[in-house]
Amino acid sequence: MQDFSKISGTTPDIIGECITYTNGQKEIIIDEEYWNAPEIGDGDREELIFHELGHCQLGLVHVNTLLPNGMPTTIMNAQHFSGTWYELNRNYYLTVLFE
Ligand SMILES: [Zn+2]
Repeated sequence: MQDFSKISGTTPDIIGECITYTNGQKEIIIDEEYWNAPEIGDGDREELIFHELGHCQLGLVHVNTLLPNGMPTTIMNAQHFSGTWYELNRNYYLTVLFE
């Protein structure tokens, strides 16, 4: 079971999870309130879904390294980052995801 936390706020909230059941079946659960929040854009939603698919489908774990500019090296970072930044650098992040 993996978590994916918000970067802001006093208490990190889980916004998505990849759950693996004992029979091997996997399920992605998304926080509906986060998904529908007015400040959340398509970049945020795609980043979140691809992060969870990274766990469930690619078997990836969290990687919390940062780029020289302070932004996460990968969307497999434990903390969700700006969906706008993700969209601007989408090709980079998707390439890294499948390396
Ligand atoms: Zn995660």
